[in-house]
Amino acid sequence: MTDLSSPPVASNGGFRFDNSWHRDLPGTYVEQAPDTAPAPQLLVLNDALAADLGLDAASLAQHPGWFAGGALPAGAAPIALAYAGHQFGGFSPQLGDGRAHLIGEHLTPAGQRRDIQLKGSGRTPFSRGGDGKAALGPMLREYVISEAMAAMGVPTTRSLAVALTGEDVRREPGLLPGAVVTRVAASHLRVGTLQFWAARGDHATLARVVDYAIARHDPDLIGREDRVLAFFDRVTARQVRLVAAWMGLGFVHGVLNTDNVALSGETIDYGPCAFMEAYAPGTVFSSIDRQGRYAYANQPLILGWNLAKLAESLLPLLGNTDANVALLNDRLAAVEARYQAAWLAVMRSKLALAGEEEGDADLATGFLAAMEGQGADWTLSFRRLAEAAEGNVSPLRALFANPERLDLWLPHWQSRRRDDAAPHLRAANPVVIPRNHMVEAALEAADLGDLAPFRALVAEVTDPYTDRPGREAYVLPAPTGFGDYVTFCGT
Ligand code: AMP
Ligand code: MG
Repeated sequence: MTDLSSPPVASNGGFRFDNSWHRDLPGTYVEQAPDTAPAPQLLVLNDALAADLGLDAASLAQHPGWFAGGALPAGAAPIALAYAGHQFGGFSPQLGDGRAHLIGEHLTPAGQRRDIQLKGSGRTPFSRGGDGKAALGPMLREYVISEAMAAMGVPTTRSLAVALTGEDVRREPGLLPGAVVTRVAASHLRVGTLQFWAARGDHATLARVVDYAIARHDPDLIGREDRVLAFFDRVTARQVRLVAAWMGLGFVHGVLNTDNVALSGETIDYGPCAFMEAYAPGTVFSSIDRQGRYAYANQPLILGWNLAKLAESLLPLLGNTDANVALLNDRLAAVEARYQAAWLAVMRSKLALAGEEEGDADLATGFLAAMEGQGADWTLSFRRLAEAAEGNVSPLRALFANPERLDLWLPHWQSRRRDDAAPHLRAANPVVIPRNHMVEAALEAADLGDLAPFRALVAEVTDPYTDRPGREAYVLPAPTGFGDYVTFCGT
């Protein structure tokens, strides 16, 4: 007899698909199944995320084809989405999912809707000259950095799995193992999604897509007459908070094209991103960002630029009148001040200041000025303020080639910080981030079939705030022999 007290075995791993994009936005995507992987192998499965999503990890592990391509869990309806985008300032009217498939939207037990997307899963009508595939290294990179970001409380897409396809892909260095990452996102709506329809002058579809975006991300605005403008404000608020969080962590996204700006406010597209070590505002890692357009300190400016592109694509819905242009321009003019306020909030927390005072922004920039040119590691400089608050300034001073400016700055900070600063500093400033040399070492080992360094790295970076012995290798910056770090888009 069937034991009715035990839960039914999930036939599809616990996925509860409700594919609203497929249902509500016909004409904005192409139905397209992922390629069939010749020998699917599930390399990494994010058990903790699976549990949060209400998925059954043990059952997922039995279906490598779901994550490498070739099989689909029941209820999936794979599509490739259309989008456009400004890439390094130049407009591409048609980008789209060229190597990704949105297989469906999963409803979590908490009632959240989450896109489940395979990336590296084969060609689509949006592939242009590309092969639609991805190499293992960049997919593992997305996994480890997005999971680190999540652990540090930064809005981000997540990584559920990385699977080998069993097929090699040809890239710059030669043949590399092909892989697929399973990305989980609040949505894949981008600034570039709206630009696609605005650029075509298809305002009816644009309106449908914007209402869909509102339904997904700001449902309280549904039906409001002023919803388009209000939606712009919401996206602005999310993006301002996001970029301020990046700046606090020394994160350089690397390819802040409008197609990589999510309307959800999540960090998306972990291509050439990396964390700055020695503080230098002009830090760039991406091999293709030769002008430094997406350098560390430029990110807030680029945010304003990208929001201007969002405003332009919303204008036709408001009506292209002088009054509406003025409305949007006022908002764009306010972005800088909104960003400054968000950044100051991040800095007050990172410096554990007591309350709010007039000179706090100067105090924060004073710390940065003391670091600049001194080789001071961004992450450790903030972290070691905790010891300084406890009376031991040596570990902090040791990070500075010349601590003269630091010594002048410290007394100001000591008098402004809260009395019980140390635990607050340790809660606001990570001790472990994905260090570039550790990421590279883990990916190199993985390419040779050894996943142990990768697994160890994931375990470390998803526990970013704890001081404990034995993790020094993950705490310290790259040895000088590592040289300047250069990243690639992985396409
Ligand atoms: P990304 O650099 O990942 O933001 O991608 C920019 C655009 O190039 C998107 O439209 C991608 O779908 C497309 N793309 C990137 N890599 C590939 C590839 N290997 N094959 C086909 N399209 C790609
Ligand atoms: Mg992209």
